[in-house]
Amino acid sequence: MKALDKLIALFRRFPGVGPKQAERFALYVIKTPDGRIEELAESLRAVKNSVRCCAECANYAEEELCPVCADRSRDRSVICVVSQPQDAAAIEKTRTFNGVYHVLHGSISPMDGVNCEGLKLKELLERVRASDGAVSELIIATNPDTEGETTAIYLTRILKDSVPSITRLACGVPLGGDINYMDEVTLGYALKGRTKI
Ligand SMILES: [Zn+2]
Repeated sequence: MKALDKLIALFRRFPGVGPKQAERFALYVIKTPDGRIEELAESLRAVKNSVRCCAECANYAEEELCPVCADRSRDRSVICVVSQPQDAAAIEKTRTFNGVYHVLHGSISPMDGVNCEGLKLKELLERVRASDGAVSELIIATNPDTEGETTAIYLTRILKDSVPSITRLACGVPLGGDINYMDEVTLGYALKGRTKI
């Protein structure tokens, strides 16, 4: 069946969707009433038409500014740099951060270097420079993997003269974790990033 095969192939392009799951999604579409599928199609179109990048932080937004940047009570002197919009959402959920974000939409891969297409690095540099010294801290919250570390090192190198404090999220012992079962790399990071109590 050509139409069904095409739909399965389209679902397979979704991140994390394997062949079996793509098939299940396609069969669900066949079984679902027309109205609900129309709603889904409309929602896909609406998201594509209305969601864009925030003019300040590059996070996804439906207006010119995202809700965080539009909130004048947020502290604009602290910028938390994340790789993906979902990382900013995760930090928001902690309710412990009152600064603003900058979403890179990826991280620097040692293979591709800084020329990664769509990476919002230039925008971050311009934002910091345009603030004219108003940014006091840059929190680099990229993942603790090779790409995330490469990105953190690069950002520190190019921004250390423009921002007084550049910090990195602590890596270490998870809450409720057992030190005895931790891998030595994580435990080593936890030791390095220890804090005074
Ligand atoms: Zn924003």
